Amino acid sequence: MHLINNKEYSKEDFEKRLRFETEPVKRVTPVLQQVAVDLLEEMYNLNAIGLAANQVGLRMRLCSIDPAFMQNKKMPVIMFNPEVVECGEEFFTSPEGCLSLPGLGLKVPRIRNVKVKFLGLDGKEYTIEDDNSLLSAVIQHEIDHLDGFLMTDRSLEKIEINYNTEV
Ligand SMILES: [Zn+2]
Repeated sequence: MHLINNKEYSKEDFEKRLRFETEPVKRVTPVLQQVAVDLLEEMYNLNAIGLAANQVGLRMRLCSIDPAFMQNKKMPVIMFNPEVVECGEEFFTSPEGCLSLPGLGLKVPRIRNVKVKFLGLDGKEYTIEDDNSLLSAVIQHEIDHLDGFLMTDRSLEKIEINYNTEV
C-alpha cells in the first residue's frame, strides 16, 4: 500500500487516483477481508483516524475509521460499500486534516447527524447512526474520498492544492 498525496504526485496522477467514484464490492470474500485488515493496519501506522482504499491505490469502496484512536483507544470500524442513508439538516464545522494533503488543516462544514449503512468485515450489513461530531465528520470525510471528493471541495475557504511538478 502506498499513500497517494499531493507532494509526491503530479496533479494529473493525483486526480487519476483520487478523483473518481470507487467500485462497490459484490461480496466480502476472505481476500477482501485481508485487504481491509491491511488497510486498517496502514491507517494505524500512519497515525490516522480514517483511511479510504483509493488513498492507497485500491479502486474499491472500502474505508477504515477509528475516531477513538485520538484518545489512544482502539475501536476500529471497517466499512465496505458505506452509504449515507439518512442525514439531518444541521451542519457544524470541524477542523480536519487529510493524509493525501499533508500539512493542510481546514475547517470543513459537515452534517451533524448521519446514518450510514455498510457491510462489515464479516460481510453483514450494519448501520451506524451518530451525532457525535468527530465520528460523523470522519465518516463523511472518508465517504467523500470514495466518491472522488476532497475536503478542499467542502471547505468554505478557497484552497489551491500544490502538486509535485518534478515528475
Ligand atoms: Zn482524507
